[in-house]
Amino acid sequence: MQFPQALETVLEALERMRDQNAQHPSASRATLARLKETKPAEAVASNVPQTPFREPIEANRPCLEPRKIDVSQHQNATKSDQLSAINERVCACVKCPNLASSRTQTVFGIGNPEADLMFVGEAPGADEDAQGEPFVGRAGQLLTKIIKAMGFAREDVYIANILKCRPDTPGSAYGNRPPTPREMETCRPYLMEQIETIQPKVIVALGAVAVEGLLGTRAPMRELRGQWNEFNGTPLMITYHPAYLLRNQAPKEKRKVWEDMMQVLERLEKPISEKQRNYFL
Ligand code: SF4
Repeated sequence: MQFPQALETVLEALERMRDQNAQHPSASRATLARLKETKPAEAVASNVPQTPFREPIEANRPCLEPRKIDVSQHQNATKSDQLSAINERVCACVKCPNLASSRTQTVFGIGNPEADLMFVGEAPGADEDAQGEPFVGRAGQLLTKIIKAMGFAREDVYIANILKCRPDTPGSAYGNRPPTPREMETCRPYLMEQIETIQPKVIVALGAVAVEGLLGTRAPMRELRGQWNEFNGTPLMITYHPAYLLRNQAPKEKRKVWEDMMQVLERLEKPISEKQRNYFL
């Protein structure tokens, strides 16, 4: 591990502890051993202007459908072209060095560039990092089920995350961690561009991290969900992240999400059948 990466790792850990109001720093033996391995020479070298972290970045898999498009030269560029151009910049992004060096690939977003409905989650997990597509793990399968119950195909809507890279989990062989506020702030402009390009009629924020990333609001989900908000003039519905429903299988929690989705269907002026009204996820 090079010095800037080690430093970034320590800073992120301290930020997380601050966010969690932790009193005492702690680190695993493995982390301490890795930090001790960092040579002072690397720290000195890091002060010299250069292009750090190139090796792991170049080792990344190519992004999905990379295409050379300069949309500034094409006034009639389609939304798909515009999204591809944003994706190219995301693929090359190393603004969060620790995430750029640990990711398998960036996870841009997927779906219909002309979608009326857009879902926004928090960040890729291990499955998404491996496959380059958002919401493909167990939570993603539940989201797809919700989308189908609403009368859409997964390809009809657009799905993206606040973060385009999987949050790294130094010292952990598995598991996910939520993005830090700084990571969200750094990556947010890409999502803004996606939303501005797609111009959905309704956005659904999935979970508290998505709400914080989009609206800058921090509050318990039980207070936030089911409420209409606005994101730059676009109606935004807040509901639970599908991962929450996997952890909490209580029918009344699932029903809450479905009621939120019925509000979305009404906002989109989609007819709701009796079967849908009585549906439980
Ligand atoms: S999380 Fe976003 S801003 Fe950070 S490196 Fe990945 S693409 Fe870039």
